Amino acid sequence: MPQSVIILGGGIIGLSCAFEAARRGMHVTLIEPSELGGQASGAAAGMLAPYSENTEQPDDFFHLCLSSLRSYPEWIRAVEELSGMPVEWVQSGSINVFMHEADALPIASRLQWQNDWGARAQLLDAAQLRKLEPMVSHSAVAGVFTPQESHVYAPKLVSALAAACRKLGVAVHAHAGEIEEVLIHTSGGVTVRAQGLASLVHADRLVVCAGAWSGAYERWFGLSIPVHPIRGQICSYEHQADEVRHMVFASQAYWVGKRNARLVCGASEDVAGFATSVTERGIGRLIRSSNQLFPFLEGRQTAHSWAGLRPATRDGLPLLGQIEGTTEVIMAAGHYRNGILLSPITALVVADLLEEKKARLSISRFAPQRFTAPASRGRVRA
Ligand SMILES: Cc1cc2nc3c(=O)[nH]c(=O)nc-3n(C[C@H](O)[C@H](O)[C@H](O)COP(=O)(O)OP(=O)(O)OC[C@H]3O[C@@H](n4cnc5c(N)ncnc54)[C@H](O)[C@@H]3O)c2cc1C
Repeated sequence: MPQSVIILGGGIIGLSCAFEAARRGMHVTLIEPSELGGQASGAAAGMLAPYSENTEQPDDFFHLCLSSLRSYPEWIRAVEELSGMPVEWVQSGSINVFMHEADALPIASRLQWQNDWGARAQLLDAAQLRKLEPMVSHSAVAGVFTPQESHVYAPKLVSALAAACRKLGVAVHAHAGEIEEVLIHTSGGVTVRAQGLASLVHADRLVVCAGAWSGAYERWFGLSIPVHPIRGQICSYEHQADEVRHMVFASQAYWVGKRNARLVCGASEDVAGFATSVTERGIGRLIRSSNQLFPFLEGRQTAHSWAGLRPATRDGLPLLGQIEGTTEVIMAAGHYRNGILLSPITALVVADLLEEKKARLSISRFAPQRFTAPASRGRVRA
């Protein structure tokens, strides 16, 4: 087992990997150029929805998502216990709402395979839908209720993970500035130089959890790392408990009621480089969708709007695994729309790899070098 690990990136993925590695007895240093959880992880709606996010087939990505959802109860218990901070995990269930009969027709086959994998989902007619979600528009004709889906308050989970990491002795360096150099030594081990840290950091292993910024590591790893930012604009309304009782998904938006009396409505998917500003157009679309599905929101002002950058890959799948040819470097990035859901399983898989154990589920589809032809793979070691 390696004695020491450097984790690069302090979003939910980096913090989760640090937490799990430290729980298993490793000496962990986490380096975050800016603020812990200050990017996508702090912006997320916190939905844990493997069934709603995977409607086609039970492939490796679905199994990754499902394993992560199943890891949540123990994960949350450990994080809350160590940090002493509640993360507001709410087992609300979700409802996918349909406005046209035709949209509900292909649902039967989806329900069949999802129920084989524990969804316990059921098709709702209009009357059943309104019984579960009374404020939904009368234009909605059907729904799918999935009781197994839940949500957390993502900023609280990030803060609790950071506190738990510190309790476990992780050396957490936030606001460390730009990562200027990464060396993977021929003799083994890694060295990282960060602009704001007085000295170099050495360790046996390195885990890259740099979210939408992971492409920056191409130059050190001799690989193509096609991760790009997809902006998500999102807003919230003041709301009273029970106005919206479940996570609700429609074709253009979703809604999730939080315990702080806010109803979160998200999210756009637009390309704007690394800009995290909101636009009138982006938030306007969410407001129109809200008025259409929940007429009681018509005329209600949004309380807050914000945006974050989802780390998207070219094929929509995360980069999870060791970089070929090294045991020192692991990537855990590119979680796109599901990084909050996938944080426990990512951390468990990464910690297994650090301990040189066999991965607990198939991760070959997520190999970080899959975008680089073998002949073009560069030299990794210094
Ligand atoms: C609006 C919105 C809603 C979302 N809703 C959900 C949801 O409901 N459920 C869900 O599961 N997911 C959701 N997501 C997706 C989820 O937020 C992301 O998949 C997840 O936060 C990615 O975590 P991360 O730690 O990889 O990235 P980030 O949280 O972005 O963290 C990456 C960190 O790396 C740091 N960094 C920058 N440059 C470097 C560098 N060179 N080296 C090292 N570190 C660097 C950054 O400062 C940042 O702190 C949502 C995303 C958005 C934007």
